[in-house]
Amino acid sequence: MTDSEGAAAGDDAGESPALPADLDAVRDALVDWYEADHRDFPWRRTEDPYEVLVSEVMSQQTQLDRVVPAWEDFLDEWPTTADLAAADRADVVAFWSDHSLGYNNRAKYLHEAAGQVEGEFDGAFPEDPDGLSELMGVGPYTANAVASFAFDNGNAVVDTNVKRVLYRAFDAPDDDDAFERVASRLMPAGESQVWNNAIMELGGVACGKSPRCDEAGCPWREWCHAYQTGDFTAPDVPEQPSFEGSRRQFRGRIVRLLGERDVISLDTLGHRIRVDYSPDGEHGREWLRGLLSDLADDGLVEVEDSGDETTVRLR
Ligand code: SF4
Repeated sequence: MTDSEGAAAGDDAGESPALPADLDAVRDALVDWYEADHRDFPWRRTEDPYEVLVSEVMSQQTQLDRVVPAWEDFLDEWPTTADLAAADRADVVAFWSDHSLGYNNRAKYLHEAAGQVEGEFDGAFPEDPDGLSELMGVGPYTANAVASFAFDNGNAVVDTNVKRVLYRAFDAPDDDDAFERVASRLMPAGESQVWNNAIMELGGVACGKSPRCDEAGCPWREWCHAYQTGDFTAPDVPEQPSFEGSRRQFRGRIVRLLGERDVISLDTLGHRIRVDYSPDGEHGREWLRGLLSDLADDGLVEVEDSGDETTVRLR
């Protein structure tokens, strides 16, 4: 836990792992990062629940970059629920298999759901997760996603990517109830649209199985437990991912820190770059000297041993 972290904020203290005391700063950092730059999927530019639903159903089994042309073609063919409801189901299923979108049942359910919207809901989608769950083939995850992205009216999304982020960043226990609690606690009230997009983007582009904390400019580095300890395992990443990746992170951190100081002692440097540094431990002087020697080989740093003290500076 860093200095900036306190006991769990909020009523559920004691049940949740320790979240940073200043949750607003954590939230703002993520939303700012997302708004500054993110992958531009076309369904992120619409609030039409039908278009959002089609994107969600398609992306259940298909990679997002392959979903884009299929989603566009589908909406060209059947632009509204009324068009889809009036279509021949066999045509919808044929479209699905022609575009390799996975189980054909999903096409049948989508067709059925369009019929429900037209027949039971007067052509207007329900606007909350419970109402959306009444649609054929729409489970809790999809209902919440549509409620969030179309109506800004959802709960915190918890999928595999989000679990990985929460586990690494806040040391959340690997337990579904705990993930739900932490995710809900983090989400700013009434902002499910931007929040769920942002945290899923973080899990997709920065905090993947092999994390890209520095390269992706992760906005949670200062609070992140994994970033501070170097342990990037997660429920879906049981082995430490790409050791080289982790070394690269630490090398970057050393160079950044040295950029702020003229000279620093070896142990001070160690303590500043990871919270579990201990001079004689597994991540101690020997480990740090290994990183420094790579950096020295690259002509980036200078290590000087004089008497009892070892100091490091940028070259
Ligand atoms: S700092 Fe790295 S490990 Fe932590 S949340 Fe960001 S990308 Fe994930």
